[in-house]
Amino acid sequence: MFACRRYGRPRRCIFYIFAFVISQLVFILILLRNESYDDLLASGQLHRNNDSGKNYLDWSEFISHRRKGLEVYYQYNLHLSDTLGVIRKLPSTRHCSCDSRPRNLPPPSSCNVSVVISFHNEARSMLLRTIVSLLSRTPKEYLHELIIVDDGSEDVTLLDDLRRWMDVFLGTRDRLGLIFLVNQERMGLIWSRNRGALLASGHHVLFLDSHCEVNEGWLEPLLERLAQDPNLAVSPILDPIDPKTLSYRRGNEMLKGGFDWSLHFHWLRRRLANQELPEMPYKSPAFAGGVLMMSRDWFLKLGGFNAYLKIWGGESIELAIKLWLCGGQIEIVPCSRIGHIFRRRHAFDFPPHLDDHQLSSAQETYLHNSKIIAESWLDEYKSMFYALRPAARRIPLAHTYDEMRQLRGEWQCHPFEWYLRHVSPELRMHFDELAATGTLRNEDRCLHATHKDSDLILVSCHLSDITQWRMLRSSGQLSTQRELCLGVAIGRRIALAPCGRNGTARMAQQWLRRGTHLLHAETHLCLDNPLKDRLELSPCRSQAVSQSFQFALEMESRT
Ligand code: UDP
Ligand code: MN
Repeated sequence: MFACRRYGRPRRCIFYIFAFVISQLVFILILLRNESYDDLLASGQLHRNNDSGKNYLDWSEFISHRRKGLEVYYQYNLHLSDTLGVIRKLPSTRHCSCDSRPRNLPPPSSCNVSVVISFHNEARSMLLRTIVSLLSRTPKEYLHELIIVDDGSEDVTLLDDLRRWMDVFLGTRDRLGLIFLVNQERMGLIWSRNRGALLASGHHVLFLDSHCEVNEGWLEPLLERLAQDPNLAVSPILDPIDPKTLSYRRGNEMLKGGFDWSLHFHWLRRRLANQELPEMPYKSPAFAGGVLMMSRDWFLKLGGFNAYLKIWGGESIELAIKLWLCGGQIEIVPCSRIGHIFRRRHAFDFPPHLDDHQLSSAQETYLHNSKIIAESWLDEYKSMFYALRPAARRIPLAHTYDEMRQLRGEWQCHPFEWYLRHVSPELRMHFDELAATGTLRNEDRCLHATHKDSDLILVSCHLSDITQWRMLRSSGQLSTQRELCLGVAIGRRIALAPCGRNGTARMAQQWLRRGTHLLHAETHLCLDNPLKDRLELSPCRSQAVSQSFQFALEMESRT
């Protein structure tokens, strides 16, 4: 500082000092980040290969091979992934009692695990971090084998390079089986996971995504639960890793997995029973995402993931329904934590679709898969699915689902009604609450709420994302899936507003049904569309077609 003053350029000098301090800080940070990797080397869990001419443990060499992909290609921060190192310390996200609880584990000879990782176009650094975290944080004696399936990735040398890298990495470590499989043509996640599971020889099979980091002690709590009940399937809590910052956060153990009548996945609130603690394992109608573990034999006995499903989508919902109905159960185990990157968009393409230009290929694949689930498992409730996803009717299926129904007979599976009654009261309540649902038709048009500004318009009923309405029995409210209700605003204007829970807001949204007419309870006027494109209220006229509104699905009247 003194020198700065002497040379008369204090500002510039301060800037240099500041820059120096920052560069030192960055340097220290880099050192800290690599520390855990060096720790692993020092502790003997990683081995450098001194004999080979090439140092395959050089992480930067391994990952440098294919850097062409941009961030959009992977849908996460590739640069950060490449600079994070092969392993990093993760925050402990589970409840502290999980660390101290004594575990009651059977010997490895009766409960070891085969891990199946299928990937399509995953960044090398990400895939490697998934594998290294698994190998470093899993007790050796319980990890039977690792089955890695390259599902037609563009990086064609990846698997060979990985094989060599792993040879060096594992050194003389014994007991771990390694199977590398390549699908020359991309077959999709469902087919690939089944292929891996068929070859697996461990007692249990764990399906893991290729962009995960397992946290300390992830396996033991899962094994402990599976030892209690061989027909159980378990999920860890998935701790979200942010796709942009790759920061690792704590997943929520107050959520269960579930789905709606369109067969879309949803998180459901978990309610604690008396004496139940948040960190205790809990039953769930569906898995918490695609990471799950169960007995290999039980998985194969159930036919694995339904092989009629294409590429990606719906497979874990299908497995969940199948499990529950055919004698199994699903639990989420909060003491087990696995980090997973939840990407905002798919990082991969779906095969070109048939002839329905209303749907993207991804939507069509998902709808195709959902239709198979509905046809195979939903029994008479499939009409709910078709009412909400009318476009599914147009999707051709290659099979009739007799085979699945036959299996249901052989396995003595319960009907879907049982699932509603015993597993997902939420889904049942939703069903019981409905008086009618689906599209709302007035003459040859359907009532649609635009996504952007929730304007009400009348459009072709075949629009792919046409609004599906729900007429609620108890409140008389008519709501969209986004919980907006049709009501009457100032000046008797028909408009959407957030569904009111009580009071005047709810009164303005109450409709009574008179045949196909919708009578507004407060004003005693009927919903009308006299000019073909604008809704209004007018005195009820029983013969007026402009006042006739038909739902795609009327629920049977029940007392
Ligand atoms: N995957 C695959 N083949 C495909 C599509 C996906 O092997 O055709 C892999 C993908 O690389 C990932 C896993 O399947 O490891 C699950 O896919 P994704 O992570 O996109 O699903 P999400 O986690 O979003 O449910
Ligand atoms: Mn994933």
